[in-house]
Amino acid sequence: MTNKPNILLVYTGGTIGMIKDYKTNALKAFDFSQIINKIPELQQLNCNIESISFDEPIDSSNMNTTYYIDIVEIIEENYTKFDGFVVLTGSDTMSYTSSVVSFMLENVQKPIIFTGSQLPIGDLRTDAKENLITSIEIAATRKNNKPVLAEVCLYFEYKLYRANRTTKINSEQFEAFTSMNYPPLAESGVHLNFNEHLIHQPKKDTPPLIVRKNLVSDIVILKLFPGITINVIESILNIKDLKGVVLETYGAGNAPDTKEFVSLLKNAIEKGIKIINVTQCAGGSVIQGHYETSLGLKKIGVVSGKDITTESAVAKLMYLLSKNLSKEDFKHYFEKSLRGEISNK
Ligand code: ASP
Repeated sequence: MTNKPNILLVYTGGTIGMIKDYKTNALKAFDFSQIINKIPELQQLNCNIESISFDEPIDSSNMNTTYYIDIVEIIEENYTKFDGFVVLTGSDTMSYTSSVVSFMLENVQKPIIFTGSQLPIGDLRTDAKENLITSIEIAATRKNNKPVLAEVCLYFEYKLYRANRTTKINSEQFEAFTSMNYPPLAESGVHLNFNEHLIHQPKKDTPPLIVRKNLVSDIVILKLFPGITINVIESILNIKDLKGVVLETYGAGNAPDTKEFVSLLKNAIEKGIKIINVTQCAGGSVIQGHYETSLGLKKIGVVSGKDITTESAVAKLMYLLSKNLSKEDFKHYFEKSLRGEISNK
């Protein structure tokens, strides 16, 4: 190996490495080694690239906690050997996966960039090449002998985001992701412009990487809508072994303030179920107590998700539930930023 940065490409699956099955006309995953052959341009980049692939690449709709562990283990095993990582996954669940990975990896000091594409790499009009090449370039960017990025990010269509701030917003356009509550960390045009003031700067005395592999997935997303019945809410809150609820509320965190509704939530919280208030709005923050219709939630101990995305709330819930924290500590850690996923306002 030379002095050039060493980048590991981790292929888990997704459209980027898919081909058409001409019998069924459906897209299916194919052998990753072909992905490198399809892009000879990769050899022109000023870094050494190695790759590793899931034995059986998956459509990201099949993503689950076992695969999350597979991804962090690949990073853990290769952490000292490589200067940066580019993880290729399907875009459908990329915001969930990259958010979870941001919590599973503590004290990250190297770039970990998630990317994928809307069209397969072999397609004439593919977005895969730009996404892949620029992600590798970003992962290899260094300043003063240190990587410019030291966090888990997501790159798609000319923008680099903090991964746990993203949401997939479009299934057709190349601009498939957005980050409503945090600006892009970098933008790619003629030049690659990093917004350095928005990027996490690790402290000089950051301890070594810690990899957390315990996740609790006995959770549910409960999205409110006008007319939702008490029967439905009661059934959901009584799911066997349920440990946590991401409650998608209206606007600034508002929900029905009827006695029946609030007391169902109160009982669930008393049983030890953690309930997180997240807004259904694409942007903005929950402010419990701002309206009367959220005051009751605050009083009974619903945790405020502030401006966290639903994807990141699911990830953080899975992560924090595994720590068996007291009610007070759980609320404290959920409501503060652990990996830049929430604004400390
Ligand atoms: N269904 C694909 C997946 O998420 C879509 C994509 O790769 O963008 O795996």
